[in-house]
Amino acid sequence: MSLSKQLFERAQQVIPGGVNSPVRAFKSVGGTPLFFDRAKGPYVFDVDAKPYIDYVGSWGPMILGHQDDDIIKSVLNAVEKGVSFGAPTAAETELAELVCSMVPSVEQLRLVNSGTEATMTAIRLARAKTGRDIIIKFEGCYHGHSDSLLVKAGSGALTLGQPSSPGVPKALANLTLTLSFNDITGLEQCFKEYANQIAGVIIEPVPGNMGCILPQREFLTTLRRLTEEQDTVLIFDEVMTGFRVAEDGAQGLYGITPCITTFGKIIGGGLPVGAIGGKKSIMQLLAPVGPVYQAGTLSGNPVSVHAGLAALKKCRELNVWHKLQEKTDYLVNGLKAAAQKHRVSLCINSLPGMLGIFFTEQPEVSSFEQVIRCDNERYTRFFHAMLDEGCYFAPSAFESAFLSSRHEQKELDNTILAANKVFAAL
Ligand code: PLP
Repeated sequence: MSLSKQLFERAQQVIPGGVNSPVRAFKSVGGTPLFFDRAKGPYVFDVDAKPYIDYVGSWGPMILGHQDDDIIKSVLNAVEKGVSFGAPTAAETELAELVCSMVPSVEQLRLVNSGTEATMTAIRLARAKTGRDIIIKFEGCYHGHSDSLLVKAGSGALTLGQPSSPGVPKALANLTLTLSFNDITGLEQCFKEYANQIAGVIIEPVPGNMGCILPQREFLTTLRRLTEEQDTVLIFDEVMTGFRVAEDGAQGLYGITPCITTFGKIIGGGLPVGAIGGKKSIMQLLAPVGPVYQAGTLSGNPVSVHAGLAALKKCRELNVWHKLQEKTDYLVNGLKAAAQKHRVSLCINSLPGMLGIFFTEQPEVSSFEQVIRCDNERYTRFFHAMLDEGCYFAPSAFESAFLSSRHEQKELDNTILAANKVFAAL
């Protein structure tokens, strides 16, 4: 029995499902989750010492690959000085200054400990700013696991939301409306029906939690226009896309200025961090300047902050986004060519460092409805066969794949070679 299997059996005795975050359990693809021992550059090594080319990247943060020398050095220095003070440090201001200089819509930044905390605070700010309660989100977008955001659409497009998990109060879910991503008409209808009642709209400008879906520019510009017209707070959840698809995130790529942006993943260089940034007029509502309460014992933790600083500085120095674009294009073209050769119907959406692989005959996948029409079962076979070939893709058809700056020609070619073999038998 593999060591991963043994560890998984042991873990299930004391940890619900044996994992500390559900998608790690391989439930949607079946089989035993791999337990990892170490990682370096573009590789992860399981406890049975098998290496894999890693396309999960800790679900996004590892844009510079694993164990980046500068991040590790920075973390070790910080650890030597003190792992937590519960008091301000200069590094927090440095990180806030850096983020403000990279993302023009961010005038002030508050650090928290996770993406979930960031989005939870963002919607509280939207409600406080507007004095309204209704929040809009989009089907297939994920914003963490706070109550107001674990909501799915009701029976009709404009009906009240339903809890998507037991334990979420119905009364709270009723305040969250869920619309279809890329559906301009639905958006306009909703703003008409709930005119001047919507506190905030939260959106992944490029959804990465239903695979990778590209927004229609007109959809985002309409969203910006409607929110501006009705003084609704527009929240871009860039926990995944922030510092990944461009220095200034998806908002830079698509030229849209949100009121609030939430960050996570890369901003912590692989350690736990989240952040909320935005216009000063909104950010100043936060305690202790304003009345909106938000706090955290470990917020702005010096080790995480130093990891994030090192990561962002290096991404900027290397102009990592340009190289990621080239690497991503190379991989996507290779995968598409392999699919074509072996007559596998495939659609891939991609941006620098991020891609969604959909097994489908549909010419494009640009909405949640199209995502759920894809061949999940085929993804599962692809996932396991690629794993056997030493390539670790996300253990779910609804997740994106991520590249790092350390994925070199060799790893990309080996992945394309593996895909050729896998597609031939798919
Ligand atoms: N927002 C987005 C877009 C995410 O992808 C995630 C996590 O994957 C979150 C929020 C929640 O972040 P965390 O898992 O750090 O709480």
